[in-house]
Amino acid sequence: LAKAQGKNRLVVYADGMAATARRRAELQQDLQVAVEGEQLAVHYQPTVRLSDGRTTGFEALVRWHHPLHGLVSPAEFIPLAEESGAITAIGRWVLHEAVAQGAAWSRETGEPLRMAVNLSPRQMADTDVTAEVRAALEASGFPAEQLTLEVTEGVLVRDVDRVVEQLEELRSFGVRVAIDDFGTGFSGLSYLRRLPADIIKIDRSFISDLPAGRSAATLIASIVELARTLGLDVVAEGVETDEQREVLRAMECGSAQGYFFSRPEPAGRAGARLGLAAGTTPVG
Ligand code: C2E
Ligand code: MG
Ligand code: MG
Ligand code: MG
Repeated sequence: LAKAQGKNRLVVYADGMAATARRRAELQQDLQVAVEGEQLAVHYQPTVRLSDGRTTGFEALVRWHHPLHGLVSPAEFIPLAEESGAITAIGRWVLHEAVAQGAAWSRETGEPLRMAVNLSPRQMADTDVTAEVRAALEASGFPAEQLTLEVTEGVLVRDVDRVVEQLEELRSFGVRVAIDDFGTGFSGLSYLRRLPADIIKIDRSFISDLPAGRSAATLIASIVELARTLGLDVVAEGVETDEQREVLRAMECGSAQGYFFSRPEPAGRAGARLGLAAGTTPVG
């Protein structure tokens, strides 16, 4: 019986792998038309300053409404888009969309709201990111100083010198660079030394262990201290409870994002949080 069960399990496993491969191939193909097909949307998650609870800006997070599969998570399709190269078109679209939205909100609130956009390694390798960012800023009138580009240590897998050069150039005209998912990679400190950065975003996995996990608290406190020493701002990702918010505030972590404050939302709803009338502000 055990043998038979083992055999069945193998069959199920092989079936699962085939289904996964099929879905990947299908999604990868469908991604080619997702941008032109208007299947993509940008959702916005606020960044909150912990000292006074104010929303200082947003992170743009792409969403894909697949005509057959419904909502597909970026955690699933961004890696596929990286592989196929579709990320360059997607990334460019998100960038334009996000800075246009940031410009509209800044104008309407009269406040210099920040906008953060994620950049993928392939986008930095295959495109002239600097020129694209300039073009997007010019088209929207969004000030460079209000734009943050988020990169992970994945960008260092490719041509390190080129990446450093690109980020330095972006910073030279005022754009800020954030190191996303900090603490999850292999190189940690050494890549902090190599990547020109202004902001560290502490990965959600550390925050989710708060407040009980004492080692998480110790690590977060040392990241906050390290950032202070280096003159960098800190954002904590994935804050889900008031307790976590309070622990982070007490550590003098500058800002935070997370479901406790708000999930990523469509522009209309995110704008309503700024006190703007729904329906008037979405640019997409
Ligand atoms: P990320 O840049 O680290 O974004 C944070 C992710 O954590 C988002 O997932 C967000 O919805 C989620 N999150 C925020 N607060 C909480 C919380 O309190 N609890 C939990 N459990 N999750 C929270 P999302 O939107 O699914 O995006 C996943 C990843 O996909 C992003 O991670 C980013 O690496 C990538 N991504 C999303 N949009 C883009 C894009 O436009 N371009 C590129 N290159 N990558 C993107
Ligand atoms: Mg990010
Ligand atoms: Mg992140
Ligand atoms: Mg993360």
